This record gives sequence, structure tokens and C-alpha cells, in this order.
Amino acid sequence: MPLGSTALPFIVIGGGVAGLVVARDLAIAGERVVLVEATDRLGGQVRRHRLAGLDLDAGAEAYAARNPSVPELARELGLAGELVSPNPAGSWLFTAESDAYPLPATSLLGIPAVIDEQLERVLGAQATARVAADAELPAELGADAVTLGELVRVRMGEAVVDRLVAPVTTGVHSAHPDALPLDRVAPGLLAALAREGSLAAAVRTLRDQAPAGSAVGGIRGGMARLVDELERELARLSVDVRVGAPAEDVTPTSIRVGAERLLGTVVVAAPGVLAPASIRPATVVTLIVERPELAAAPRGSGVLVAPGAPVTARALTHQSAKWDWLAHAAAGLDVLRLSYEHPVPTDTARGDATTLLGVTIRPRDIVESAVVEWQRSAIEASAAHPQVGEAASGTGLASVVQHARATARRLLAVGGTREDDVRLKREKGSTTNDD
Ligand SMILES: Cc1cc2nc3c(=O)[nH]c(=O)nc-3n(C[C@H](O)[C@H](O)[C@H](O)COP(=O)(O)OP(=O)(O)OC[C@H]3O[C@@H](n4cnc5c(N)ncnc54)[C@H](O)[C@@H]3O)c2cc1C
Repeated sequence: MPLGSTALPFIVIGGGVAGLVVARDLAIAGERVVLVEATDRLGGQVRRHRLAGLDLDAGAEAYAARNPSVPELARELGLAGELVSPNPAGSWLFTAESDAYPLPATSLLGIPAVIDEQLERVLGAQATARVAADAELPAELGADAVTLGELVRVRMGEAVVDRLVAPVTTGVHSAHPDALPLDRVAPGLLAALAREGSLAAAVRTLRDQAPAGSAVGGIRGGMARLVDELERELARLSVDVRVGAPAEDVTPTSIRVGAERLLGTVVVAAPGVLAPASIRPATVVTLIVERPELAAAPRGSGVLVAPGAPVTARALTHQSAKWDWLAHAAAGLDVLRLSYEHPVPTDTARGDATTLLGVTIRPRDIVESAVVEWQRSAIEASAAHPQVGEAASGTGLASVVQHARATARRLLAVGGTREDDVRLKREKGSTTNDD
């Protein structure tokens, strides 16, 4: 029986993708849903800005294709024809010695699956021989590793952690491999190691099992279109969406928004609500550049930066080389996006782009620029509340969407009994200033 008509609503705190997705799934099942968002707009870390007449993603600009959750959601939202793959040229690596190489094509999070000349160019002969030793080591070695760094170090040596995996994880997850739990960033890798006997073979099988095509995907026009469509759906489903409405005094069954107390089953989709959030800052500098030499995409779709390299940026995405739709829209301009831990002046980004791309970009080549600061939350799951979003699922849209939908299914499965309702109604009777 749909509970919507009689039961108290679900109250979703946070209007990022996680909150929007969980609210949508609950509403589709007939539940009443209230969603409160602290800021004046929905989308959280997915939003657009406009530079040089181009609509660009200011935050997330792609999704990992390691699970089908984002393309599935996009299809449900009518965006099937808008899913796109990036330029297959792939990313490059910029080393501490200021060398630039294409990243090994067959790899997972930078862990090489194949030993070839390209790998030897990046690592040198000795470290490549250490990678080869992985095939001879007992399968149990590394079986108890907790972090990605631990596993790669023990199987393939320090150089692979430093020169290949760290640049990928700092660029993608903003974290060193030693800070990344294996079960979050590479689920199935330890099981594959046990089956296959070596890390390289484990990576090969996981790569083979992954959906065909590119490791990431995008949406023509930018990932922010996902938020536009989710917002439209919530309106259609009559979800009570309130922006500029920060939730306070949060309990499992109630929140306060301004002077109003709302009762219902609280689903937390915002960091820092349950406990002081451990927040990592991040800054993205976008440069719109007029420099014909960049049209040749000198470093593929972008550059990942190894620790010790003489730039401040952690990564550079050559967005107009990565996405055809953007190259088309940019009509001869180039769009570069550089990631930093802390805010930097545009001129630092210009210098870093020159170093990383090997093409001099002069101040007069910059048509427009933007520096956007973000706060990203580390994992801080709580058992007491249903919780979705990157604090519970790990960072990235693929994890966030998959986890939010699984959580909605779980809430709906237990919702039939809604034992909380009895307690809630009692609580409601004793509350004076509610609805
Ligand atoms: C620069 C950047 C680039 C990224 N690139 C990619 C990428 O290419 N691919 C990818 O998959 N992922 C990427 N990510 C990560 C991805 O964007 C996030 O993992 C994802 O969007 C998180 O969604 P969320 O809903 O969990 O959290 P958020 O988007 O952070 O949403 C949380 C929401 O809760 C609101 N909120 C907070 N407190 C309260 C309160 N008390 N009451 C009400 N509301 C509250 C916030 O205002 C916010 O809107 C990127 C992130 C950044 C910052």
C-alpha cells in the first residue's frame, strides 16, 4: 500500500545529487517527501557557470562508468540521447622530473595491468622489474591490505604508488592512495587478486568485466543537466522542495527549519549535519584560452600530476579536447580546468597550464577565467540515521547515485511497517510549535 496519504513524510536534508535522487525514488513509490536545501539552489557540487558565453560545469563534469547507475538515471530522466564518451586519447602524466607521458592505457586507478615499453618509460627498468615480480609473489601477499596504497606497494613496489597511482587518486579522489580504503575505491580488487593470483591479472579481469567503452562518461551540455532534470521531476512528483532552508536540530524523526519544526523520517543527504564534517577544500580554476596551438590537444584530454612535480595544480583537464560537444560550442577557444587544494591566482593557473601542456599561454591569451572554491566531505557515516551522499557512499556521482538508490529501496522495504510513525505521532502530540 502506498503510504503517502497517511504516513508522515520523508524529510530529505540536502539538495545535492544524493538528496535529489533519494527524494525522487521515494516520491515515485508514492511517499510524501519534503526536501530542504540550505543554499538557494539545488545540485550541490554539480552546478554550472557561464564563461565566454559557454555553459560549463563548475563542479563535477563526468561520471565513472564502473557501475551503470548514472547512465541508468540519465535515461530515466530522458537524457538517453545525450550521453557521451570522452575523447579516447586519454590522460597524460606529468612527473617530478617534468617529463610528460601518456598514462598506461590498460590500468585501474593507475595500477598497470600490462608491462610494456610505455610503462618502462614512466617507471624505468628497475621499478618495471619490480612490477613484473607481482606475477611471482604468493597470492596471499596483500590480501589483508586495507588501503589502495598498501596493496599496490606490497605487490608492485613504491614507484607504482608514487608515479602512477598517486597522481590518479589525487586528481580523481583528492586523496593519496594510502588514505583510500580499498573497498570504497576498488571494490572487488582483493577478491580478484585471490582468484587470479597477481595484482596485474586482477586489474585485467576487473577491466574486462567493466562495461565496454570508456571508463568515464558525460552528458552533452554538461553534468548540470542531470540536476535540471531531477529538479523538474521533483516538481512533477509534487515533492515539497525548499531552498534557502538549512536544517537544524536534526533528530531521526524531526528537523527544525527556521521557526518551523518538521516531523517525519529524516534522511541525511548533507555533510556536517550529524557530526562536524571533516571537510577538504578544493579549488577549480577554469581558463578560456585563445591559443591555436592547443587545438592539437598536446596532452590528450588532460594531465595528472605526480607528487613532487614543479606545479601547484593537482590535475589539468583539457575540457574542450575531452568533450566534442564542448569543442564544437567553444568554436576555436580552448577550455582548461585546473584543480588545486587551495585558492590560487589565475596567473598561477596560467603558468601551471603552460608547464603541463608544454604550450606557452600568455596573459593576453586568456579570454576569461573563474576561480571556484569547493568544500568536499570525507566519509563520516552514522548508524543512527538513514544517510546518503558522499559522506556515506564515498565521493563521485557513480557511488553517490548507486548508494542513494539502494538506500531508497531499503527505506521503502522497511517503510511498510513504519514503526517510527507511532513514535512520531506521539512526539507530534507533545510538540507545541510544529506545523
Ligand atoms: C570540483 C569538483 C569536481 C568533481 N568532479 C567530479 C567528476 O568529474 N565526476 C564525479 O563523479 N564526481 C565529481 N565530483 C564529486 C561529486 O560532485 C560529488 O561526489 C557529488 O556531487 C556529491 O553529491 P552529494 O549530494 O553527496 O553532496 P553535495 O553535492 O555536497 O550536496 C550536499 C547538499 O547539502 C546541502 N546542505 C548542507 N548542509 C545542509 C543543511 N544543514 N540543511 C540543508 N541542506 C544542507 C548543501 O548545500 C548541498 O547542496 C567533483 C566534485 C567537485 C567539488
